[in-house]
Amino acid sequence: MKRIAILGSTGSIGTQALEVIKANPDSFELEVLTAHSNADLLIQQALEFNPNTVVIANEALYDKVQDALQHTDVKVYAGAGALCSVVEMGTVDMVLTAMVGYAGLQPTIRAIKAGKHIALANKETLVVAGQLITDLAEEHAVNIYPVDSEHSAIFQCLAGEFHNPIEKIILTASGGPFRGRTASELATVTKAQALKHPNWDMGAKITIDSASLMNKGLEVIEAKWLFGLRNEQIEVVVHPQSIIHSLVQFEDGSIKAQLGLPDMKLPIQYALGYPNRLKSDFPRFNFLDYPQLTFEQPDLETFRNLALAYKAMEQGGNMACILNAANEVAVSAFLRDEVGFLQMSDIIESCMAKVTYIANPSFDDYVTTDRETREKATELINN
Ligand code: NAD
Ligand code: MG
Repeated sequence: MKRIAILGSTGSIGTQALEVIKANPDSFELEVLTAHSNADLLIQQALEFNPNTVVIANEALYDKVQDALQHTDVKVYAGAGALCSVVEMGTVDMVLTAMVGYAGLQPTIRAIKAGKHIALANKETLVVAGQLITDLAEEHAVNIYPVDSEHSAIFQCLAGEFHNPIEKIILTASGGPFRGRTASELATVTKAQALKHPNWDMGAKITIDSASLMNKGLEVIEAKWLFGLRNEQIEVVVHPQSIIHSLVQFEDGSIKAQLGLPDMKLPIQYALGYPNRLKSDFPRFNFLDYPQLTFEQPDLETFRNLALAYKAMEQGGNMACILNAANEVAVSAFLRDEVGFLQMSDIIESCMAKVTYIANPSFDDYVTTDRETREKATELINN
């Protein structure tokens, strides 16, 4: 029985994780649920799953949640500080980080320091502070299990192979809704078009990142830290059907891949249940439904965010933290119709050139870099 805390239980990953937990009552027990501001869903989840504790990050909603749960024995807390404390609870074995963005960094650090294993969906944490997080995980003997489908695929390919060096990994990318478009076509795409992903139904931020290929850029950096790879060992190939979730090539030239229909419940369940494969009723893949699996080179000139992510990874230090913060600000401005699709890359590039570079950042440096970058990006948008 694994006792689970979910950070971000009301989101796309969080709700699918709850379906997995519900389907496997002998394997998992739910200890903690948290949300930012969807109080109604958080309350409904608490009533259904009866966790030990819930946290609503938006403190203005504390009374609403507390009132709704007053006749239960669920403890209710509010605020970002509470998110950091609940992950340390003695009754939690594993923390699923399913909240979005930089806000996931601090609770993840606290969970690792408390010796909790991490099922990591919040890729931004590893992008911002990969060295710090992986060093901490090693120091505290904590495992970080990938939830991201590509990284789960690689992890699954590595089962039984951990003693064998990796030659390279190949991350697959769907190419998003704008695959094949030219830069001039991208200049006028709308938020509604960008929010329509061909294969995956996800939260708004990652859906925009998928349309701009920033998601793949973040995943390249995520893979570097998860699997301890050198930059040149990570390749990206566009595979529009999203059936092959990623591949590993070993030093004898052999390639292993993991396949399946695009459904995040499988990688979520693998991360929560590792090392066991739990029986599921997820729809099965049939080759005859997909007579063609195709592959293309990513277009780094049109989709500049992927090139910027590679550049940030090569520059190291706090550069990926700058990339991430600028991207978070740019994406939310795009979602408010304040900037166009291509301007998101301009904002990120400009922040990477202007924000103070730090070669060996400490935790405090990341906090400062994140703040400085958000100010710079906001200034660029307002002008
Ligand atoms: P989402 O927007 O659907 O859900 C985000 C969740 O986090 C919500 O429960 C929200 O209440 C909570 N949250 C947001 N901001 C918060 C804050 N400041 N403090 C506390 N809680 C906060 O997002 P999602 O699509 O589920 O993605 C979650 C993470 O998983 C992201 O890092 C994303 O990159 C990663 N991921 C998602 C998918 C997917 O299929 N959705 C796939 C791979 C990786
Ligand atoms: Mg992914």
